[in-house]
Amino acid sequence: MRLEIVTPERTVYEKEEVQMIITHAAKGDIGILPNHAPLISPLDPTIVRVKLNDQLEEKIFVSGGFLEVRPDQVTILAEAAELPSEIDVERAKAAKERAEKRLKNKEKIDAVRAELALKRAMNRLKVTEI
Ligand code: ATP
Repeated sequence: MRLEIVTPERTVYEKEEVQMIITHAAKGDIGILPNHAPLISPLDPTIVRVKLNDQLEEKIFVSGGFLEVRPDQVTILAEAAELPSEIDVERAKAAKERAEKRLKNKEKIDAVRAELALKRAMNRLKVTEI
């Protein structure tokens, strides 16, 4: 099964043959094996785990977008996505603090926007830790 993760700027990840993809889609956690039923789902900021074989697993952060599953091909169209090595940890920590402060002060903020920013920052930090 082929996997492609693309953003408006670039192809972040592309593999011709992956064993399994695990992520969190709209209806909950999902594990995708070859020959999965076709599916389209929106994605919140999350981590995509890619099992290449029984030993090797890679992780990619996606900031939200869409997941398209076909029997032999999975495509993720993301607003932004990064490999763990590409993440600026200090920037993510600062974004997390900013979002937390906004949510705590509550006044005149767009809570949904702040919660999504917090989710992005927390998942960016998490993908660099594991
Ligand atoms: P910030 O408030 O720090 O900009 P953000 O969550 O609002 O964070 P995004 O809108 O998700 O940022 O991303 C904007 C661009 O910056 C994308 O190209 C994304 O890949 C990149 N980016 C954002 N945060 C980081 C980070 N911590 N490390 C590396 N690249 C990042």
